[in-house]
Amino acid sequence: MLLAPEFTHGVRPNMEQRKCKDCGASYLLNRDNFGNTPSGGFRWQCRSCMRNHVKKYTEQNPEWIKEKHSVRLARIEANGGRGISFSEINKIRRELRDCCAYCGIPLQGGGEVDHMTPIARGGRDEPTNATLACTKCNLAKHAKTVEEYLQWRKKRGLIVREPNRSNAEPPLQKKKLILVRKIQPK
Ligand SMILES: [Zn+2]
Ligand SMILES: [Zn+2]
Repeated sequence: MLLAPEFTHGVRPNMEQRKCKDCGASYLLNRDNFGNTPSGGFRWQCRSCMRNHVKKYTEQNPEWIKEKHSVRLARIEANGGRGISFSEINKIRRELRDCCAYCGIPLQGGGEVDHMTPIARGGRDEPTNATLACTKCNLAKHAKTVEEYLQWRKKRGLIVREPNRSNAEPPLQKKKLILVRKIQPK
């Protein structure tokens, strides 16, 4: 008797589905289809509905974005960061071999500057506090410290990039993040 492939290793993949509460479509219940809530469960809206929702909100509330932006700039100033130049970002990119600092996927010249200690947590906007991360990691890390984010990944069984010791540069934990935006002189 032939066994269905999902039973051949004695482990049945999670085939549970969830119906998005906005669009009504059903998808396999996983992280790619439904993002995680802060408590670690899955959202009730599918990713694409979530994206549309955020987009609509930001379009309808331009003041909200402006305010968030100015709060952030004020924090950067209060934290004492001097900003990060493109050549400094490129240096970090070389140290990381153009791969995400957290999950290790190739960035292919892209990725996002991540403040290892988040601005909201008192981190400085400068090269010593900057690293490069893929969009997924940057979003998921949000206002977590590096330590908190790596714990968060381990708890979910996600890959954690090992510091690459053949890098002549300081270990990853000492490299940091950035905001690409420069602070405008007053
Ligand atoms: Zn949906
Ligand atoms: Zn990543």
